[in-house]
Amino acid sequence: MAYQLLSNEAQDAIATGASSSRLHQWDHVPDSTWNRIWAIKTLPKIKSFIWRACAQGIASGEGLHSRQVPIDPSCCRCGTEKESVDHILLGCSFAHLVWFGSSLSYSPLSDHIPLLHEWLGSWDALFRSNKKLARESFSRASFLCWYLWLAINDLVFNVKIWTPQEVITVAEKAYVDSLQLIQGIINRM
Ligand SMILES: [Zn+2]
Repeated sequence: MAYQLLSNEAQDAIATGASSSRLHQWDHVPDSTWNRIWAIKTLPKIKSFIWRACAQGIASGEGLHSRQVPIDPSCCRCGTEKESVDHILLGCSFAHLVWFGSSLSYSPLSDHIPLLHEWLGSWDALFRSNKKLARESFSRASFLCWYLWLAINDLVFNVKIWTPQEVITVAEKAYVDSLQLIQGIINRM
């Protein structure tokens, strides 16, 4: 249900407020989005990954191609789009299956796939309406992003194929495990 809210309010925000230039520039990301990333309750490596993904510090097929690395910039899953981090995490049909099948039941608008930082910024609506739910959901989403990223790397470098359900299962379990770990630390304090 939370994600119905996210799907409706947040996606409206994406559709109306998104930059049409689609330039990937560090300074196009508002401070509020950087602050939100730093506030995610997640593992440090995941936080760092999302930060670098927004700052264009992650090597993807498209990124390497643009730096004159002689590789096919197309997504190795769907082959229909350039393999940017935004595509891997949000735009790819594989990512759609993961998001929709997860406990978030999130479905990106088909006519406007947001850039990652736009999508992160779009959570403002949910944070305004239900901060606790937004925090939990944002944390869960960070794990889904991380395992979507691991799965594409496994495909590219290890020729290992993850199914969408495997990504969902591992990511949701890692999220729950992280909560228990944090709670255990709190209990010992
Ligand atoms: Zn794809």
